[in-house]
Amino acid sequence: MSPSKDRVFSGARPTGRQHLGNYLGAIQNYVALQDQFACIYCIVDLHALTTMETTAELRDNTREMTLDWLAAGIRPKETIVFVQSHVTEVTELHTMLSMVTSLGKLTDLPTFKEKVRLQPHNINYGLVGYPVLMTADIVLYKAKYVPVGIDQAPHIEFAREVVRSFNHRYGTQVLIEPEMKSTEVPKVLGTDGTRKMSKSLDNQIELASTPEETLKRVMTMVTDPQRVRREDPGNPDVCNVFSMHKIFSSTEEVEMVNTECRRAGIGCVDCKQLFAKNLNAHLEPFRERRRELESKPDHVWDVLRDGAQRARKIAAQTMQEVRDALGLP
Ligand code: SF4
Repeated sequence: MSPSKDRVFSGARPTGRQHLGNYLGAIQNYVALQDQFACIYCIVDLHALTTMETTAELRDNTREMTLDWLAAGIRPKETIVFVQSHVTEVTELHTMLSMVTSLGKLTDLPTFKEKVRLQPHNINYGLVGYPVLMTADIVLYKAKYVPVGIDQAPHIEFAREVVRSFNHRYGTQVLIEPEMKSTEVPKVLGTDGTRKMSKSLDNQIELASTPEETLKRVMTMVTDPQRVRREDPGNPDVCNVFSMHKIFSSTEEVEMVNTECRRAGIGCVDCKQLFAKNLNAHLEPFRERRRELESKPDHVWDVLRDGAQRARKIAAQTMQEVRDALGLP
């Protein structure tokens, strides 16, 4: 990791095999940011505990997700890739930051209210403190930027406020206010064509699926609902398959689908098969790299262990400065 580059931090929950939504919404950007910044990418398993009913799949999900990240082009020799719970300083900083964070503010946050709505049977303390832990994640590594979509801007603003409160309370400048690195995140809909692609909705297309599985999944995609019969003209503007063509198909193919769909010159079956073919071609190098990585069973854990060691060095330094600033005996 180059000390001269600005630092970027981002965390993602261990959700296992990644899908197109993860790829287009985050991973692609993670890969690109490495060229310009010193990046730290964290698998936030402690955050995941706030909503998990069981931890049985936590280890497997961490491994699968890391495999996808590496196969997609995250370079662990320069970028720090690690698991949140492997650097325990984050929980210490979380406790310290919680002392300068108003409880009312936390329970007023729309994200907390949404979680309460989604899991009324499990409103745990971790859910309330989640944004404080998230702030600790970022500031522990003195990250200048956090890559987020515009919808997550309030989270970064919250983190900045916590940092200001901390620095003000203890008369220090030891913690850095992170800035948002705003990214254009396309809204990737799932195979149902209406909701965001998500594993929990079972509407995902996974990057690591075989070409056959991918084709099968693509064939289930919902298209223009008004196009009932093959001879009906369709409207690509309301069709998720067309949105995907725009990302994975050539300009000529996109134009062809746009024209032919409107005059029923192409059927949805052929259109989906074309998309699946292009998607599979796009993903082939990724799958090849993933197979290579999978053939070395310890590799993922070696990468995560090395990442944790490097992250811990930064964390230890920050915590020493924080403890000094607090005047802890
Ligand atoms: Fe969608 Fe293609 Fe069918 Fe048109 S032809 S409705 S773009 S799947």
